[in-house]
Amino acid sequence: MSKNKPIFVTQPDLPDLNEFVDKLSLIWNSKILTNNGPNHKEFEDALKKHLNVQNLSVYSNGTIALLAALKALNLKGNIITTPYSFVATSHAIMWNGLTPVFADVCAHNGNLNPEKVEELIDEETTAIMPVHVYGYPCDIDAYERLAEKYNLKIIYDAAHCFDIKRKDDNKSILLEGDLSVLSFHATKAFNSIEGGAIISRDAGLIDKVNLLKNFGFRNEVEIEGIGINGKMNELQAAFGVLQLSDVEENISKRKKVFEAYVELLRNVEGISVFTSIGDYCSNYSYLPILVNEEYRLNRDELYLYLKEHEIYARRYFYPLISDLEAYKEILTNRNNILPVATDLSEKILCLPIYSSLSIDEVKLICNLIK
Ligand SMILES: *Cc1c(COP(=O)(O)O)cnc(C)c1O
Repeated sequence: MSKNKPIFVTQPDLPDLNEFVDKLSLIWNSKILTNNGPNHKEFEDALKKHLNVQNLSVYSNGTIALLAALKALNLKGNIITTPYSFVATSHAIMWNGLTPVFADVCAHNGNLNPEKVEELIDEETTAIMPVHVYGYPCDIDAYERLAEKYNLKIIYDAAHCFDIKRKDDNKSILLEGDLSVLSFHATKAFNSIEGGAIISRDAGLIDKVNLLKNFGFRNEVEIEGIGINGKMNELQAAFGVLQLSDVEENISKRKKVFEAYVELLRNVEGISVFTSIGDYCSNYSYLPILVNEEYRLNRDELYLYLKEHEIYARRYFYPLISDLEAYKEILTNRNNILPVATDLSEKILCLPIYSSLSIDEVKLICNLIK
């Protein structure tokens, strides 16, 4: 067995330590640790500028942001969503006392299939919550049509979508639907250790989510609605501000890693890089491959083989959310209506990708696969 150091599926980018210590000194002097302090304000302003959006609210993490996004829309009944995602997508629906209804996904990009969604719309349906999986854009136009035709809200789980912009006019993907939710978790393309944000074209909705993240406080004596504590603290906001100055360079390093994989895996029988480059640019957050029948091993065998060599790939997304014990009560995968998502979840494997992964390490991983 080759003796390499363990390679994990991702590794977070970090700001310059000295610059962070300088920021900490200022925080120490000010004694302002949280509650919309100066770093929080600076982070929000810098994010708006960087992402090319006007209305944005920073949150302590993406999951609380998803909870608040749904809450802000005052929904009832059923939300049609994807089984092929991280559990937080559906958990946020459940925590709001709403019911997720799972529709199948598209084979070419893993995103919720709008045609399958339309088949499931009934009088209980009030919203659709698609995910731009791996940062690959959903069929945005189709969801806009469904929203209009059936009077539904659209909430995008855009956790993977930092810096995803349309190629021709630089329009952020975060401006689609009623609300979009980003995650800045350490495993994402851009991180503030933990963190998230809600973005909308509608300033009124962002006003609402600003209240919701601070228990609903409008002022000292007025509380509007059942809020939560979703505030980001000053240390993480300062960390986030520093991270922003490096993010473009980090994404371009990821791009080189991504391209090296594509090249090295090109002629491996039974392996295909699962990519979907359309009208939007990519942030190269993930390196998903499909392990097809023609490959010598099945997906789980390849996963274990790599693990034996201390390469920790991840099976994103497996198992499907609709197959989890906690979701068994919900009658949504009746009649096995999710064949595409099921097939994808059995073939997908996400290989290590991060800005500091070397091309030699990519070669080592690809040689093992070959
Ligand atoms: C990471 C992730 C989340 C949750 O974000 P956190 O910031 O970790 O709470 C939600 N949805 C998807 C699809 C994710 O990948």
